[in-house]
Amino acid sequence: MNKKIMITGGAGFLGSHLCERLLDAGHDVLCVDNYFTGSKANIRHLLGNPFFEAMRHDVTFPLYVEVDEIYNLACPASPVHYQYDPVRTTKVSVHGAINMLGLAKRTGARILQASTSEVYGDPAVHPQREDYRGNVNPIGARACYDEGKRCAETLFFDYRRQHGLEIKVARIFNTFGPRMHPGDGRVVSNFIVQALKGEPISIYGDGNQTRSFCYVDDLIGGLIKLMATPDGFTGPVNLGNPVEISIGELAKRVIDLTGAKSELMVRPLPEDDPLQRCPDITLAKAELDWTPAVGLDQGLKATIAYFDELLRADA
Ligand code: NAD
Ligand code: UDP
Ligand code: UDP
Repeated sequence: MNKKIMITGGAGFLGSHLCERLLDAGHDVLCVDNYFTGSKANIRHLLGNPFFEAMRHDVTFPLYVEVDEIYNLACPASPVHYQYDPVRTTKVSVHGAINMLGLAKRTGARILQASTSEVYGDPAVHPQREDYRGNVNPIGARACYDEGKRCAETLFFDYRRQHGLEIKVARIFNTFGPRMHPGDGRVVSNFIVQALKGEPISIYGDGNQTRSFCYVDDLIGGLIKLMATPDGFTGPVNLGNPVEISIGELAKRVIDLTGAKSELMVRPLPEDDPLQRCPDITLAKAELDWTPAVGLDQGLKATIAYFDELLRADA
C-alpha cells in the first residue's frame, strides 16, 4: 500500500538512501532537512520524481504535516560534526524527538528513531546486546550525542507508555557507503579519501580499537523491515554488521583495495573513543529476519568507486 512517509535528515548519508528505497517501493516521500551535514547533491537525482518532496526545515522547531510514517534521522552523526556545536546536537536529538513525537501523536503516524550504538558508550560488555545499559561518560566530549540519543530513546518509550504511540527504535552501528560526507572525519571516508589522494592514513591511537562496519544497503533494508514489524515490537534493536575489525586492519584493507602508496600516520586517540564495538544481532535476526549480506571488501570497493568519482569531479 502506498504511504506518505516523512524522513527527517533525508538529505544526509543514510537518509538519502532511505528516500530512494522508499520511492522505489512506491511510497510518497517527504524529505525534511536543514542541510547542516546533508546536501541537495545527495537528493538531486530524486527531485524530478513527482512522489518526492524536499522541505528545508530544522526539526528543533515544530512542524505540522500529515503523514503515515516518520523515520527520524535528523542529527549530525560524525564526531567532528556533532562536536562542532554540542549544545545544538543535544537540542536536535531532544527537541527534534519531542516535535516529531508530537507530530506522530497528533497524526497517529508510526515513528522510527535512528538511535545509535553510542548509547552503549565505551562498552564493558562485548558484543553488545540490547539489554546492556551502557557505559557513557555524561560529561565528556561525546556526551552531547550519546546522552542526546539516550534521552531521545527515553522520550520514545514514554510517548508509547503515556500516549500509546507506535514506536520503533533502531540502534545503528557504524555504517558506510556512497554519499558519506568526505569531510566528516569518519574513519572509512577519511581512510579512503587519504588513500585516493596518496596522503598518509591517520590512525588514532594504536589502531587496536575495533568497530564493525555495515554497508549502507544492508542497513537501510533493516530500517524498512523494522518499520514493518507488528505494533507489539518496539525494539530497541541493534542493526549492524557483526564482523569486527581493528582500525589498523581496516587501514591495511583500504590501502590494498585502492593500491595506494600511503603510509600510516599515528594521531592522538580522541577523548572517550570506545575501545571495542560489535553488535549482537540475534534480536534483529529473530524479529526482522534480517542479516547483513554485503561483505566489508565488497562494500569498500563500492565506496572507493564513489569517492574516486567525487574527487575526480572536484579536481
Ligand atoms: P548525516 O550527517 O549524513 O545525516 C544527518 C542529516 O540530518 C543531515 O542531512 C543533516 O543536514 C540533517 N540534520 C541535522 N540537524 C538537523 C536539524 N536540526 N533539522 C533537520 N535536519 C537536520 O549522518 P548519517 O550517517 O546519515 O546519520 C543519520 C542518522 O543515523 C543520525 O541520526 C545518526 O545519529 C544515525 N546513525 C548513523 C550511523 C552511521 O554510521 N552512519 C550510526 C549510528 C546512528
Ligand atoms: N508538534 C509538532 N507537530 C505536530 C504536533 C506537535 O511539531 O503536528 C510539536 C509541538 O510543538 C509540541 C511538541 O510537538 O511542542 C510535543 O507535542 P505534544 O502534543 O506531545 O505536547 P504539547 O503540545 O502538550 O507540548
Ligand atoms: N579513526 C581513526 N582515524 C580517522 C578517523 C577515525 O583511527 O581518521 C578511529 C576513531 O578513533 C575510532 C574509529 O576510527 O576509534 C571509528 O571512528 P568514527 O569517527 O568513524 O566512528 P565512531 O568513533 O563514532 O565509531
